[in-house]
Amino acid sequence: MSGWRNNNMSTEIVSQVINLSKRVYNLSQRFKDVEFQHELLDLHEEITTFRLEISRLVDENESLKLELKHKTEQKPTTIDGCYVFDDEPDRLYCPTCWDVKALKVLTFKLHGPYRKCNNCPSDSIIK
Ligand SMILES: [Zn+2]
Repeated sequence: MSGWRNNNMSTEIVSQVINLSKRVYNLSQRFKDVEFQHELLDLHEEITTFRLEISRLVDENESLKLELKHKTEQKPTTIDGCYVFDDEPDRLYCPTCWDVKALKVLTFKLHGPYRKCNNCPSDSIIK
């Protein structure tokens, strides 16, 4: 699957950047020129920042893949404006939380046909 390839590629990039930063740091130890050393250390810091950003993106990608998998596996039906899942026919979930964050948040009954989700803003009512 392409997801695996992307993950392996990201891991490969991270390890390449780590090796590169180690090489730059080791190289900087060999020079007496203070200005040159400072420039190399700046470069080392930039590479470290770059490495952290890649790690963050890899984590985010994993999280999004999980979210997508979660969403495509479960297809809710709508009852009284709420989502109902096949395995829990008596529970009414918030459609906004599911659609936006793939979160299953139960709703509770207000007056009449209206319902409310604890996770959504206080002025959002489900009907
Ligand atoms: Zn909600």
